[in-house]
Amino acid sequence: MEKKDIQHRPAVSLADTQSLEKIDKLFACNAKEYIDLPQLVIVGDQSSGKSSVLEGLTKLTFPRDSGLCTRFATQVIFRRDKTIESRKILASIIPSSDTDPEQKEQLEKWTASGLETLGAKGFAKMMDEVHDQMGLSHEGDNVPTFSNHVLRLEIRGPDEEHLTVIDVPGIFKNRTTGKTTKADIELVRAMVLGYMRNDRSVMLTVVPANVDIATQEIIEMAREIDPDEKRTLRILTKPDLVDNGAEDKVIDLVEKSSDKLGWIVVRSLGQQEMKDGLDRDKEEELWHLKAPWDQIRAENWGIKALAARLRELLISMVRRSFPLIRTELSKKLKDAKSALETLGSERETPEQQRRLLLGIVTKFQDITRRALSSCYGSRDEFDNPEMRLTTRVMERNTSFSSDMAKFGQEYAYAKEEDLSEDLAAIDDESGLPTGSATVSRDPSPETNLFSRKVTYNVDNNLEEILHPTAAIPPPRSRDIVRYLAAEYRHSRGFEIGTFNQGLLATLMKKQTEKWVALSRGYISDMVVIVQTFICSALHASCPDEDTCSGILTLLGDKMLDRYQKAMDTVEFLLKTEREGTPMTQNHYLNETLQKCRQDRLQNKLTDRTFSDGRGGQVVRLSDVTLQSHMGNAQHTIQDIHDILRSYYKVARKRFVDNVCIQATDFYLLVGDQSPMCLFSSEWVHDLSKEQLEEVAGEDFSVKRRRAQLRKEIRELEAGRRVLV
Ligand code: GDP
Ligand code: MG
Repeated sequence: MEKKDIQHRPAVSLADTQSLEKIDKLFACNAKEYIDLPQLVIVGDQSSGKSSVLEGLTKLTFPRDSGLCTRFATQVIFRRDKTIESRKILASIIPSSDTDPEQKEQLEKWTASGLETLGAKGFAKMMDEVHDQMGLSHEGDNVPTFSNHVLRLEIRGPDEEHLTVIDVPGIFKNRTTGKTTKADIELVRAMVLGYMRNDRSVMLTVVPANVDIATQEIIEMAREIDPDEKRTLRILTKPDLVDNGAEDKVIDLVEKSSDKLGWIVVRSLGQQEMKDGLDRDKEEELWHLKAPWDQIRAENWGIKALAARLRELLISMVRRSFPLIRTELSKKLKDAKSALETLGSERETPEQQRRLLLGIVTKFQDITRRALSSCYGSRDEFDNPEMRLTTRVMERNTSFSSDMAKFGQEYAYAKEEDLSEDLAAIDDESGLPTGSATVSRDPSPETNLFSRKVTYNVDNNLEEILHPTAAIPPPRSRDIVRYLAAEYRHSRGFEIGTFNQGLLATLMKKQTEKWVALSRGYISDMVVIVQTFICSALHASCPDEDTCSGILTLLGDKMLDRYQKAMDTVEFLLKTEREGTPMTQNHYLNETLQKCRQDRLQNKLTDRTFSDGRGGQVVRLSDVTLQSHMGNAQHTIQDIHDILRSYYKVARKRFVDNVCIQATDFYLLVGDQSPMCLFSSEWVHDLSKEQLEEVAGEDFSVKRRRAQLRKEIRELEAGRRVLV
């Protein structure tokens, strides 16, 4: 037979080189995570020589023995990496998807070290470990024989091809007693088919040349899965074991086949040859020189031919996936950019930090302005009821006013019909209650009122200056006359028909005792309302949690001072009302007093009226003049009651207004001393470098994330450029 020229096809054409370069560049700009490079899957029967082919291709010693060999899938990832000088190998285990969490964690923890110099010995040792990790059986014990976990070997080096290879267990049909079961057969079949069906897989179907090729199931399986044969490569192994005389049949199959794909013959070493330490490449070449194998064209012989064919196939697959990769890169790029945007602008220098804070100030002040003028429609933030500041303030003002009206006085003023009865029970001479008249007191119908109505549990700091809630009982009913009589008795001087000037002050002090708790509760609630608003407005102006709390911390003490001012104002107003001289220029006092007296008169006369015959009611003059049978003291006490009642009413209204206007409106809301004014551009300008860093500086994690995103964006952009 004529010996053919051993003619090497060029490994790659020019266009292919460009594709390869693109892949290299994509890898160089770290776009590898986004690229699904094709992977080789070597399939075939047990002992058909799969691992030997893989070893020839990769120059790695895959586990080989003539018994059960590959019992789990091994994924070998080769990556060209010009940045390192020599091959580096990293081994890990990818747990199968149905692994329980505990085992998953254990498997993921495992890595093999010291693999840089991967020799047959080191590899075998590692394989042993992997078997243990996966819980696979050793000779004779009763544990699983195959595993769905995957051993992953990542091999990087300056001269590697970008290639992913998967060595799967061989398909077998017969059970081996004590070793493999029917379930094992099914498991392996499913595993192998799974890899074959993956679109990314290039199938290397391995068939030994020394068996009846026509009966090899794997060829049929591959044809079914990949009918166009776009990703199938067929390999014949063990040409050296072909029976004498059967060679021609094999050679015809390889050289004359009408199959689009044809076959590549690979000659690996047998067990003994390996023990003898023969060189596989050399043996393969030598075997090719021998008749009749020299009839096989170089492009169909040996590992070199296989590698070249493989590269072609891979490149065409990769090239087909370029548009997809581009789309993928663009999507990732968009995601990374929006992630970077949500991190906000960079805050490294004091200027950047100041700018950030000034932006927040502007937004905060805008929100505050709108809140104070109740322009709630203009911003979404006001959907939060805590942000509706003026409304909350008004609600609390109203309840303060009505609470003061209902619960403010210590003694309830006497009803007209009770007054005369209660007065009659006072001995006019002594001013003491007469023994006979024990006044029946109504049991208090109303329950206690609590002075605080707004709860708040965010800022403990604030709680220090706030007053705790107090239970306020309703005014004492039917006690006032006896109380007034006693006070009058103790303060009596030489006055006739009138009473001591100091008495009103004393009475007011007692009568307004509950103003203290009511107004303290009110102002504490107000502080809470304002503080809650400030926090919410700040959060609405600044999405970054850390910056918000930084601002609040730094403002903290000054803010407390301002709240304290509002609270001091309430104390001041309490003091002036309760301890100052009772006085008013308000004619309302006199009006109330007159009304009191008129009402009483009218009340007394109602049962003495009769019709004047013209639709009106008249009363005899004698009845009017005769109306009073009261003694001096009783009369004076009645006067005291009326005056106290009238003055109290004026003072109460004045006090409520003053508290609302001065303490709340001025000191908490609109005055230039309000806590809202604190967070201003002036404040930002006055911050020192250190304070700026403290408030607006970035967290280390944010900095790192930003840097990472920037790098990703750079790489993705570079990757996209490669693919144009
Ligand atoms: P696998 O089970 O498909 O992975 O097959 P292996 O690669 O483990 O090979 C099974 C046996 O066949 C091993 O003992 C190999 O040494 C041997 N073998 C593989 N290929 C050849 C070959 O081309 N020639 C010879 N003589 N033996 C081979
Ligand atoms: Mg094997």
